Amino acid sequence: MTTMQENDVFNAFHEIWDVPEQTKTGPLEGMTVAVKDNIVTKTGTTTCGSKMLKEYKSPFNATVIDRIQDAGAILVGKTNCDEFAMGSSTEHCAWGPVLNPWDTTRVPGGSSGGSAVAVAARLCDAALGSDTGGSIRQPAALCGIVGYKPTYGLVSRYGLVAFASSLDQIGTFSVNVEDSAHLVETMAGFDELDSTCRDEPAPELTKHLHKSIDNLRIGVPSQYMGNQNTNDVEAAINAAIETYRALGATIVEIDLPLTDVGISTYYVLAPAECSSNLARYDGIRYGHRTDKQCKDLFELYSESRAEGFGSEVKRRIMLGTYVLSSGYYDAYYNNALKTRRLICREYETAFKKCDVILGPTTPSPAFSIGEKNDPLSMYLCDVYTANTNIAGICGISLPCGFSEVDGKLLPIGLHLQGAWYDDANLLRAAQMFQNSTEFHTVTPECVK
Ligand code: GLN
Repeated sequence: MTTMQENDVFNAFHEIWDVPEQTKTGPLEGMTVAVKDNIVTKTGTTTCGSKMLKEYKSPFNATVIDRIQDAGAILVGKTNCDEFAMGSSTEHCAWGPVLNPWDTTRVPGGSSGGSAVAVAARLCDAALGSDTGGSIRQPAALCGIVGYKPTYGLVSRYGLVAFASSLDQIGTFSVNVEDSAHLVETMAGFDELDSTCRDEPAPELTKHLHKSIDNLRIGVPSQYMGNQNTNDVEAAINAAIETYRALGATIVEIDLPLTDVGISTYYVLAPAECSSNLARYDGIRYGHRTDKQCKDLFELYSESRAEGFGSEVKRRIMLGTYVLSSGYYDAYYNNALKTRRLICREYETAFKKCDVILGPTTPSPAFSIGEKNDPLSMYLCDVYTANTNIAGICGISLPCGFSEVDGKLLPIGLHLQGAWYDDANLLRAAQMFQNSTEFHTVTPECVK
């Protein structure tokens, strides 16, 4: 018998845990679940892929951990991610890059790359991740699995290490929509420990999952189609549109002109919040402390932070500090907040015309390790996903095709977005697609 360790040739896991002999009974009974290393667990460490938190042991579990364990899930370990969830490739993890099981010369996407790979390589049934600008949906697309970001406020963030609190959301990876629906149904619902959590009972996500939606209206924005997508991506999305049409859906043309400003808005808001959230890692309250002899407190802070953080995290902190500084606050942060409002309005208008919005999750399939070596080209990976978080709506990525490159199959992701708290319908629309397609059943070679 092979163990999970032997199969983790992709560096998906930072820690693999022994499976307990006794687990609880419940709706998730027997489901093996991996946890992104930025969600705190009393078992093991929570490092956020950073030297800053190398030996950090949480004294408590995140709310989602308690809830899924109580429902019978079996936690199998912590998965590698880009440092503090900043990135789109999982190359920027202090514990080494994570490799894509479809082609190990390529990235799995990020920042929840380890979670995506653990599920894609069938090392576990499902995984938890976090999505601030696309970090669940983008790696799910690049690894050929389902990645679901619930509406902001549906799932408690208590115990998710904060990156950008107004955008961060815990969500799931799985092979089929149903497992994600079961997990989020278990995790959702009010939590007094997260003041942004909606004060409502968890919605029923599984009850009507297999009932098709009558008169489903699918909105396709012109901004999501066209020359920034590769030909294979464009063809796969057009085929997905035809699949829905054959299922009786009406395809509606919609307009989301602010798609283009999503990246610039996101890369002001997210670094601003990160610069504040990461101030706690000063070597005293939290995080790595330098061994150097320092002459004063300031030097201790700066040496500890210089040693503990990697270069992308430092870049974000500097960007964030800059956009919040008194001379530039209005020009950058305030403007980004205004744009955020406009992006929300644009979605409000769109959801009057359609039930879900369809497009590609990413413009191209998995790229090579080292290929995107300037920050801007990495940031552009989030072109279709960042606005979902900016508005706080729900989104899901589903396998919808493949590109064949150098004899290797590279998965393509279909992105569906749903309105605020319309998660049950988003998942039903996703299930309709999986009921009539086979893409989610295709596995990388390593599984055979
Ligand atoms: N790629 C985006 C970033 O680097 C999104 C990350 C995320 O969703 N955590 O910030």
